[in-house]
Amino acid sequence: MVKSAYCPTCERDVSFSVKEVECTTSLDGVEYAYWVKQAVCEKCGGEAVYEPFEEEAGRAFNEAVREKKGLVSLAKIREMPKRYNIGKRPLSLLLGWGEITYTRFMDGQAPSQEYSDVIERLYSDPAAYYRVLVKGKDRISKIAFRKSEEAVASVLDSDFKSSEKIYEVADYFCILSEGDITTMMLQKLTYYAQGFSYVFLDSPLFEQCPMVGDAGPVYGQLLQEYQGKDLLVEYSNQGQAEAKLADAFEGVEEELLKAVFNSFGRYSGSILTQMVLNEDPIASRNGTSVKTQEKPEHDTVPTNDMKNYFRRIANAFGMKSSKDIAKYADEAFSKSTLAPTG
Ligand SMILES: [Zn+2]
Repeated sequence: MVKSAYCPTCERDVSFSVKEVECTTSLDGVEYAYWVKQAVCEKCGGEAVYEPFEEEAGRAFNEAVREKKGLVSLAKIREMPKRYNIGKRPLSLLLGWGEITYTRFMDGQAPSQEYSDVIERLYSDPAAYYRVLVKGKDRISKIAFRKSEEAVASVLDSDFKSSEKIYEVADYFCILSEGDITTMMLQKLTYYAQGFSYVFLDSPLFEQCPMVGDAGPVYGQLLQEYQGKDLLVEYSNQGQAEAKLADAFEGVEEELLKAVFNSFGRYSGSILTQMVLNEDPIASRNGTSVKTQEKPEHDTVPTNDMKNYFRRIANAFGMKSSKDIAKYADEAFSKSTLAPTG
């Protein structure tokens, strides 16, 4: 089908050529300049009306206004629900806005500066989005929460380096426990393995830094990999387990992982969570004493904090080898509020 435009001079549909022209529109006393496509009638050379160009011009004008005001682009507004796999209504509710507020922005309405800043920040900082998601989880359905949680974990991971080692570590704990392990336990054991690797290995086990959530440290990649999996089914075949264990890790790494598993693996996920929440690198970030204040912008635990903390523990407990980790685990357990008293 040949495209045609309406020419008001010829008073009929005509074929046309296209030229780019710069337009200036005044709004509230401010002039906005932007480029538009213009249909030109091939019969009389006058300006013709081609609907798609009109719509494009409307959007270009909107973008010009946003740009001048420093507002978030429409493209970013439309991309955000895809980026974090969440519907526009749930997203709006999650942010504590009216249910259709985000829909209106997606339809082209320019947000106020305040709303714009929120969108801009959450788009570019997945850790901040993750915090908002966890905080507002009760405002959206469980399914919506889980889907978005997976998506943000994946965005966070793509920002991380591509180390596969973290999977091998988690996998090793799954094999050791014969699958009798929860994802929460898995997160904490992996965290302790990394923490004590700063003490007993020359270099950390893997590269990733954990995010800090309300349940302590969380590795996005593990969240994505293990959430919703039936570990008991996947790891209960011990015939294969022996072989897998034999060639997974060796030497000091093997010793470390087994020591971490033997020391912490007997506690439930909620007890382990209690333990890590009491620990310095997490407690100081979780703002337990200053609940009203905003958490720091990038709430991952930096390598140096973890290194210093676990080396201090090793000193305090006079640890000579990874076998001594058990002493610390017992002490941490007795300090957790879930420990039996008296
Ligand atoms: Zn014409």
